[in-house]
Formats: sequence, C-alpha cells, structure tokens
Amino acid sequence: MSALDTLISRVPTGLFISGEFRDAEDGATLTVENPSDGSVLAGVASASAADARAALDAAVAAQADWATTAPAARADILRRAHDLLLDHAEELALLMSAELGRALHDSRAEVRYAATFFSWFAAEAERMRGDYRRSPDGSARIVVVQKPVGPVLAITPWNFPLSMGTRKLGAALAAGCTTVLKPASKTPLTMLFLARILKEAGLPAGVVNIVPTSTAAHVSGLLEDPRVRKFTFTGSTEVGQRLAAKAAERSINVSLELGGNAPFIVCADADLDAAVRELGVAKMRGAGQACIAANRVFLHESLSEEFLRRVADYVSSLRIGPGTTEEADYGALSGADQRAKVSSLVDDAVARGARRVAVAPLPDDLPSGGCFYPATVLADVPDDAAIAREEIFGPVIAVQTFADEEDVVRRANDTHFGLASYLFSENLGRALNLAERLESGMVAVNKGSLSDPAAPFGGIKQSGIGREGGFEGIAEYLEPTFISLPG
Ligand code: NAP
Repeated sequence: MSALDTLISRVPTGLFISGEFRDAEDGATLTVENPSDGSVLAGVASASAADARAALDAAVAAQADWATTAPAARADILRRAHDLLLDHAEELALLMSAELGRALHDSRAEVRYAATFFSWFAAEAERMRGDYRRSPDGSARIVVVQKPVGPVLAITPWNFPLSMGTRKLGAALAAGCTTVLKPASKTPLTMLFLARILKEAGLPAGVVNIVPTSTAAHVSGLLEDPRVRKFTFTGSTEVGQRLAAKAAERSINVSLELGGNAPFIVCADADLDAAVRELGVAKMRGAGQACIAANRVFLHESLSEEFLRRVADYVSSLRIGPGTTEEADYGALSGADQRAKVSSLVDDAVARGARRVAVAPLPDDLPSGGCFYPATVLADVPDDAAIAREEIFGPVIAVQTFADEEDVVRRANDTHFGLASYLFSENLGRALNLAERLESGMVAVNKGSLSDPAAPFGGIKQSGIGREGGFEGIAEYLEPTFISLPG
C-alpha cells in the first residue's frame, strides 16, 4: 500500500454531525478524485436536506453552552487544534495535494497558514471587549456587550480546502458560535480530517458539524431556516451573490469572500529581480488557483522586453508534475472543467492579438488522466480580452504595458472585482500614493504574498463583504447588545 492509500484508508468519510461520523440518511455518497491522474480517492457520505437539518439541529443544541463556555476554555481547544494540525501537517499536505492536484510545497504552506488562524483566534477569544459610555446629555449609561451571532452556516471552496475552513472556524469558535460547514465537493476529505482533529482537541459535540454533499442546495437550503443567524461564504462572486440574496430574505448576517482580478503593477523604478521573483509567488501558488493570484500584470512600457525575457526564463524553469510528488514546482488544475476554462481564456486572448512569449514544457511521463496545463506567458494582452476581465485560475501570466500612473490606475480599477493588488516601486511615496488609489481591499507593496492571520483579509466592490483574520475577523461573528442604565 502506498503512503497515500494508507492515509486515505484512515481519513473519515462520514458526515460529521453532533461529534460523530455517520452515513448519509439515504446512503448517498460523492466520489472524490485525484486531478493528477483521474483516479478515485474515496467515496464520501453526501448530505441530504434532512442530514443538513440534523447538522443544524446539533449546532442549535450546542449554541447556548458554547456561548457561555469560558473564553480561556474555548482558547485552549483552539490551541490544541493548532498543535494537532501541525502534528498532522505531512498527512494533511499529502491529502490536500491528492484532492486538489496541487504541489506538496504549496499544501505544506497551507497547513501552516491554516493553523495560524487557530492560534490567532485563541488569543482573540481571551481579549474580547465590551464598551461603556455615557449619553451626551448625561441621562443614561450605555453598556455594550458582544454576543456570539451564531449558529453559523459556512460554505467553503476547493482551492484552499483547509485554511478557508480554519479562517472561518477559528473566528466563529473564539466568538462562541456553533457552525454547520459545507466544504467543496471536490475536496471534502481535508475538512473531515479537520473534524477529527477538532474532536481530538476536545471540541464538544455539535459545536462544529461538517456536511459534504454533491447537491449544494441541500445545505444552502438551510438559509430558509430561521435558526441560521449568520452566513459566511468563500467562493465565486456569482454563487456568493445568489446565496447572499437568499440570506437577505431573512435578514441573515452575511460575510462574503469572493473572486478577484488582481493587478500586478511594475513601475519604471521597480527592483526587477524582486518583481520577477514575487510574481512567481503571486501567480504560481496552487498553479494560479488563488483568489488573490496576480491576474493582470501591468509593466511600465520602458521595462517590457527585459521583464518578459526574465519571466519567460522563470516559467521555462518550472517543473510540472503530480501534486503528491516531491519534484513538482506546480501541479495539476483542480479538474477538467478548470483546465478547459484556462485553455479557452488563453485561446481568446491570442485570437485578440496577445503573443505567447513562453510555454513551460509538459514532460512526456505526466499521467494521461491528469488535468495539467503548462505555465504560459502572454504579452500584449488587450484590455477587452476575457483573460483581463475574468479570474484566470491557472498558471498563465497575462502581461500588458502602461504609459504612466494615471493610465495604470484607471485600468487596474476598471473591473468589478476589488480583492488584492500588487505594486512594485522603489519610491515609497509613489507606492503609498498608488496603494491608496487602487480599488481593492488589500495591496501588497514589493511583495507577492498577502496572507497573514493578523491582517484583515477581504475585498471591496464585488469581491466581498466583511473581513477574515486580524482584529476585524472576530467581529464578523459577534453582535453588539446595548444595555441602557439610568445616568
Ligand atoms: P464556487 O463554485 O462558488 O463554490 C464555492 C462553494 O459554494 C463550494 O462549496 C460549492 O459547492 C458551493 N456552491 C456552488 N454552487 C452552489 C449553490 N448553488 N448553492 C450552494 N452552494 C453552492 O467557487 P469555487 O470554484 O469552489 O472556488 C473558487 C472561487 O472562490 C474563485 O472565484 C475564488 O476567487 C474564490 N475564492 C475567494 C477567496 C477569498 O478569500 N476572497 C478565497 C478562496 C477562493 P460545490 O463544491 O459542491 O460546487
């Protein structure tokens, strides 16, 4: 038996409801495949609408006790879960790389990142504050207490199967909320592994319930249940907006982490070595399948040829391979649907005049059933090409040039997305000025990474509502109650 087979045989495959793993009530399962070769990894219980209701019943039953559990006790469980995640880091990384096709080094980085949300929010649990003030005319004393908003319904995507869950659960658990979480149907095994870790860490039954399903509506149907008090979603803008509209019918508190179309701006005075290196970071994480991936690279026109030569060299040096092998710099895309989409975006851009400057080699020995797409550099991408308007979600570096700051700010902001931006300039004043003018929730200056448990992660415009992480993250799961006393 391979290490992966042994691991898979030990991962729970049942719905996690009320602290136990169990089959779906109708016996339904969904099949999880490895996108590196198309092989079947496991069959996982697929929740029916009745199973989803049972999960919510469990979350509702646990809510009052969890809300009144001492903050230090909640924090202790989160810290234990953090440590257990790191103890199981290698297994989780292998599991994610198998479900997702992603390179092992990316999966290892995700485990570390995911765990930090438990340690960060453990500390936050112990530092929650209320407020005391007096009314302006002195007639009342105002006490503000923060109460957990839960129970929470959470839906997460496949591209970061662990951290998109821990970023929500860390904050929800610290705040005192119970949760029903639906992971993406492509990657349910990672969240079920996490469920076992939470149980081992001492989380009481019903506080977190994990319900994979092949029919998402079985779980999102819970938005019609008045017992759901908070909806938090990470995924595409289209689905998030549709579900938020449903949540609005019951005035459910909503947080959305949606799609992006990040500009990566390289000014004339940029450090080119740093810009090329960090473009690799901002683009190639998960083979480009990240909401904050650099989507549109804007080069100052004076840099174009030199920069393109260096990026082409970088891309040509990358090794593609099955995610579960040590050798791969980047792996497969998450499925045939994703590969077809990337391929059609590239074809459209080329048909509109873009040049293919570099295409990384695809070795002959790649598994035939794998969803591989070679890292590609496109130059002269027109503004109206679909690749400049939509999320690429693939290893394609799409380059445009700009003339001056006015030009690049206008074009960078010409999108309904507003999640992340990157800019490179050795002039700090220019960088700050540009950072303030870019319409996005997050701006990285002279670096290609943004994710940090201590920072408020999130977007503006149609990239989302609310923030995850930072001091702001826990507020999404709290509601202020104002108590008025005589002055
Ligand atoms: P997606 O298709 O919107 O799916 C996200 C989640 O929603 C999955 O669990 C999916 O379930 C579920 N879902 C899909 N249709 C649904 C429906 N009609 N009712 C209820 N649930 C439904 O997005 P994705 O392809 O998994 O993820 C990629 C997207 O996520 C990208 O747009 C990316 O930018 C975004 N993202 C954003 C952030 C951020 O922090 N802003 C982070 C990561 C990813 P199934 O798996 O069963 O379809």
